[in-house]
Amino acid sequence: MKATCWTGRNSVEVLDVPDPRMLNARDAVVRVTSTAICGSDLHLVDGYIPTMKKGDILGHEFMGEVVEVGPEVRNLRPGDRVVVPFPIACGGCFACEDGLYSLCENSNPNAGMAEKLMGHSPAGVFGYSHMLGGFAGGQAEYARVPFADVGPIKIEDDLPDEKVLFLSDILPTGYMGAEMCDIKPGDTVAVWGAGPVGQFAVAGAHLMGAERVICVDRFPYRLRYAERAGAEVLDYEQVDVLDALRDMTGGRGPDACIDAVGLEAHHPTPAMYAYDRAKQATRMETERPYALREAIMACRNGGVVAVVGVYGGLVDKFPMGAIMNRSLTLRAGQCHVQRYMRPLLERIRAGDIDPSFVVSHRLPLSEAPRGYELFKNKLDDCNKVVLTP
Ligand code: NAD
Ligand code: ZN
Ligand code: ZN
Repeated sequence: MKATCWTGRNSVEVLDVPDPRMLNARDAVVRVTSTAICGSDLHLVDGYIPTMKKGDILGHEFMGEVVEVGPEVRNLRPGDRVVVPFPIACGGCFACEDGLYSLCENSNPNAGMAEKLMGHSPAGVFGYSHMLGGFAGGQAEYARVPFADVGPIKIEDDLPDEKVLFLSDILPTGYMGAEMCDIKPGDTVAVWGAGPVGQFAVAGAHLMGAERVICVDRFPYRLRYAERAGAEVLDYEQVDVLDALRDMTGGRGPDACIDAVGLEAHHPTPAMYAYDRAKQATRMETERPYALREAIMACRNGGVVAVVGVYGGLVDKFPMGAIMNRSLTLRAGQCHVQRYMRPLLERIRAGDIDPSFVVSHRLPLSEAPRGYELFKNKLDDCNKVVLTP
């Protein structure tokens, strides 16, 4: 089959690889009908997530048709249409029972590698390094789905792929970012990053009753997407974000701040950017946490900082004094997607949200490298790329 492979830093190729095979009784094999490129994939391509190997199949946002199921998968049959969540989760361990699916204790065969870096291991994830399991991803014609009796959600009506595909990741992720903010009526929420995840965080904050949502980025076209999702917007190349947020909130700061940028934040001040970039290049820190620092500094006393942007290792100049002295709550996580799929599918069915608004580019799988190029460099007003095998 054809699959999108990581072939080194800044190198993605569509290659011929062996078809996936069933390995366990709870596996399914899915013929992929739609798959998307995520900001998280950029961190892999840019070389910031360790333990990738040449030839690894990328992709963790995919859906398709079940072609084969193992004997223990009783809820699915060949022919079913499913969306697959990106964390791989058994459904029965301590974490899964608690709804913390991205922390499943049984799905990462390489847990030892993750423990060395992070203390304990999170769940396995499709197409997301050997440290997170070394699972083949879904930017391919077919994918093996472990624990298929738990993760995939069946789509039984004729909703088009683009309306339901993002249940696999970014819609629940943005929504969870907003949920972590404990939004109360009257609240102001600020979101760093007007990428697809930030856009869904804006939409999620509104669904949860935020009075004002303010979104920060530097790409005018992306800020327009955020505006359409209901945000007031700040271009951080035009204004000082901390000053602007203070002004907009009577001096107090937003009640909650969401980091939807992650470890490759850009910085408007060349000196600060160069500082983090140099430390990152020499591995003295693994992240450029500029948006995170700003979110912490901006948040009102006693507020919540919710981190859904991905970080891989260590950050430098982390304002712990602000967190401690100002009673901030810091929350974070890879999304527990399985927990949100059903309720958000209901919201889509009810017409409360149509996630397809994020799609800007539709390309055949064979053009995945161009999709990465457009999405990474924000060319041609690229917001979200959907690939069809
Ligand atoms: P994206 O690359 O499309 O968007 C990131 C946006 O952040 C860009 O528009 C960029 O201009 C903006 N940005 C960069 N520096 C900034 C700064 N200093 N201030 C404000 N904005 C800044 O990526 P995406 O697909 O929207 O994903 C966003 C993040 O969410 C990534 O880190 C991704 O890995 C992460 N993610 C996490 C989960 C999860 O489960 N927690 C799931 C999906 C994605
Ligand atoms: Zn993703
Ligand atoms: Zn589990």
